[in-house]
Amino acid sequence: MDELICEVCGNKTPKLYSVIIEGSEMQVCKECASLGKKKQPLPTKKSHKLRKQISEESEEELIEDYPTILKNAILEKYGDLQKFCRSHNLKESWLKKVIDGHIPLTLEEAKKLEKILKIKLIIKQTYTLPEENSKPENTSKKPAFTLGDLLKEKLNLR
Ligand SMILES: [Zn+2]
Repeated sequence: MDELICEVCGNKTPKLYSVIIEGSEMQVCKECASLGKKKQPLPTKKSHKLRKQISEESEEELIEDYPTILKNAILEKYGDLQKFCRSHNLKESWLKKVIDGHIPLTLEEAKKLEKILKIKLIIKQTYTLPEENSKPENTSKKPAFTLGDLLKEKLNLR
């Protein structure tokens, strides 16, 4: 029968736990496991249903009244559309249609205009699945000493 040896204290142990100690993954006994950060438990027979990946998707969208914002910004900074278009090599007829809502602005175009006019035309929508909210981060036990200290302490105990 194989004997399981804790990688930290060297004791024989009926069961090994996979934990992260000082950034390294180690197979340790139960006692030492409490000093490290738990890794996922080794896969057991009854496999949990695969945990869905936390998907965070962000989508960029034009804000609803971007034509108005665009128009106001241009008029405010350039006086009229023509001047603005000439300065930036844009087609005035195109811009008018955009402002009238006849042509949708692409995100690329919007970004360009955002830069030129220093305005915000795009909002970022972030969808996060409400999963990780429940457990606060602070509760995880952090070892107060280093692995070196730990080893010394264990050696002294014997
Ligand atoms: Zn141990």
